[in-house]
Amino acid sequence: MAEQSNFDIVVVGAGPAGLGFARAMQGSGQQIAIVEKLSESVLANPPEDGRDIALTHTSEALMRDYGMWARLDEGRIGTIRDAKVLNGTSAFALNFDARKAGADYLGRIVQNHEIRRTAYEVIKDDPHVSLLCEAEVATVATDAGGARVGLADGRRLHGNLLIAADSRFSGVRRKMGLAADSLDFGRVVIVCEMTHELPHEDTAFECFHYDQTLAILPMAGNVSSVVVTLPADRAEQVMAMSDAGFAADVAARFEGRLGAMHLSSPRHPYPLVAVLARRFVGHRFALVGDAAVGMHPVTAHGYNLGLSGASLLAAEIREALERGGDAGDARALKRYEAAHRRTVLPLYHGTNALVRLFTDDRPPARLLRGAALRLGTVVKPVHNRILNKLTEIEGHVRS
Ligand SMILES: Cc1cc2nc3c(=O)[nH]c(=O)nc-3n(C[C@H](O)[C@H](O)[C@H](O)COP(=O)(O)OP(=O)(O)OC[C@H]3O[C@@H](n4cnc5c(N)ncnc54)[C@H](O)[C@@H]3O)c2cc1C
Repeated sequence: MAEQSNFDIVVVGAGPAGLGFARAMQGSGQQIAIVEKLSESVLANPPEDGRDIALTHTSEALMRDYGMWARLDEGRIGTIRDAKVLNGTSAFALNFDARKAGADYLGRIVQNHEIRRTAYEVIKDDPHVSLLCEAEVATVATDAGGARVGLADGRRLHGNLLIAADSRFSGVRRKMGLAADSLDFGRVVIVCEMTHELPHEDTAFECFHYDQTLAILPMAGNVSSVVVTLPADRAEQVMAMSDAGFAADVAARFEGRLGAMHLSSPRHPYPLVAVLARRFVGHRFALVGDAAVGMHPVTAHGYNLGLSGASLLAAEIREALERGGDAGDARALKRYEAAHRRTVLPLYHGTNALVRLFTDDRPPARLLRGAALRLGTVVKPVHNRILNKLTEIEGHVRS
C-alpha cells in the first residue's frame, strides 16, 4: 500500500476559490495540499474561456492584498461607473450611478483566465503549499482521526480538514454526502468579447428583451464583454451563426448604441444551472466557491462570493489555531457556515427570482417587471440598497 502523506489541510480543486483559500492561509504555517485534475502548465497559463468577471470593491481589495492585482495588466482592466437595466422595448431604465454612492466606480472587470493565472502565481512558490496536479480523487472520508483522501493513482493524503473547491458539480461534496439543490434554467449563456465603433463610457447594460437577455459590460478601450442568455434549444443555432452575422445581431439588439460591433474573441456557451448546497460544512469538511454556491451569472456574484467565502473560512481557521485548535475545528467551521450563508442566501434566492421575473414572457410578468424597475428608480431606499450592495459602501448613497 502507498505511503500516506500528511498535511494540515487538503483542498480539492485549484480553481479561483481553492487557490484563493490557499493564499488567504499564507503565513499561518499550515501545510496545504491542493489536488487538481488539470496539469500545472494549464494552471500557469489558463486558456481564455470567454468569462469576464465583474468584481466588487471587496474583491478588488482582497486581490490587492493577496498580490494578485499587481500581476494584472492595468491597461486591460475594465471599470463600471454606471449601470443601466433596460426592459424590453420600454424606454424606462433603472440606473445605478457610482457617484451617487460616493464611489468613483461600481466595480472592475477582469478576464477569468487572468484571475486564475494570478491566483496560481501567488501560491506557486509558497513552501507550505503542495500542488498535486493531474490527480483524480477516488475516495474521501473524515472522522475523529482527521480527513483522508485516496487518489486514483493509489496515493493517500491525510489532514485535519478537507475542503471541496471542485466546482458547482462538486464530486467531493457528493462523495461526502452533503446534499445540494440545483436549478436548471433550461437556458444557455453565450459569452464573448466585441470591439465597437463608439465608446461605452464605462457603462454596463443589462437588456431584458422578451426572448433573450443581453448584457454588455465595459472592458478597457472600445471593447465590451457580451453575454447573451437564451433558451437552450436556440443556443446551437446562435453558436452556428457566422461571426459577422452574430455581431450584426448583437449590434441590432443593442439598437446601435455602440455603433458597428465586431467579435474579438471566440464565443463560449455555458448551460445555466444554479446550485446551492444545503450545508456548507460537515465533520472536518468545508465547501468553498461554486461547490458551496453556484450562482446564475446575471448578478455577477459567483467569484466575488467564492473569494470572500474563502477569506472568511481562512480567518475563522486562523482564530481557531490561535485558540489552540486545529484546522478542522468544529466551532470555526460553524461560524464560517453561519456567516457565509447569511451573505449567500439573499443573493442566491434574489438572483433566481430576478431571473424568473425577467425571463417570463407572460403579460403579468411583463407588467410586474416594469413596475419593479419603476419601484427601483422611484423608491429611493430600494434603489439605494441595491447601489450600496454593488459598491459595498454602506450608508454612502446620497438621496
Ligand atoms: C459565463 C459566466 C460568467 C460569470 N461572470 C461572473 C462575474 O461577472 N462575477 C463573478 O463574481 N463571477 C462570475 N462567474 C462565476 C465564476 O466564474 C465562478 O464562480 C468561479 O469560477 C468559481 O470558482 P471555483 O474555484 O469555485 O470553481 P471552478 O472555477 O469551477 O474551479 C474548480 C476547479 O476544480 C477542479 N476540479 C474539479 N473536479 C475535480 C476533481 N474531481 N479533482 C481535482 N480537481 C477537480 C477543476 O479542474 C477546476 O480547476 C461567471 C460564470 C460564468 C459561467
